[in-house]
Amino acid sequence: MARFYGEVRGKAPSAATREGSEGSGILAHIRGWRLGLMVTGMTSSPDPERDAFVVDLTGGSNGGKPTSYGVLIISEAENGSRRVFVDAGQVTGVSYLHPCGCWDTRSDNHEERCTA
Ligand SMILES: [Zn+2]
Repeated sequence: MARFYGEVRGKAPSAATREGSEGSGILAHIRGWRLGLMVTGMTSSPDPERDAFVVDLTGGSNGGKPTSYGVLIISEAENGSRRVFVDAGQVTGVSYLHPCGCWDTRSDNHEERCTA
C-alpha cells in the first residue's frame, strides 16, 4: 500500500488518483475562481509512521491573494492527534483527539467534560 494516496473527482467519469511516498508526500490543490484549498500530506516528525496534514487557503484559479492562509494543521503525535487552527499565520485554536473520539480544546481532564 502506498504511504499516501489521493483521489480527485470532477466531470470525467472516472476519478484521478495519485500515490505518494514517504519522500514525496502528497499535495492536492482544489481551485474555484477566487478561492482554493491546498492539502499537503507528509510524515509526522520525528516519527515517520505518523501522518501530518496542512490545509492552506489559496486564491484559486485567479491566484489573487486570499484573505487568510494556513487554515488547519492536523498531526498525529505520540500523545494523540492534534488540530491547530491558523488564520493569517497566527494560531487561533488548538484541539486534541481523545481516546473516546472527542476533539477538545484541552488536552487534560477531558473525562470530566466528555458527553460522548
Ligand atoms: Zn469524550
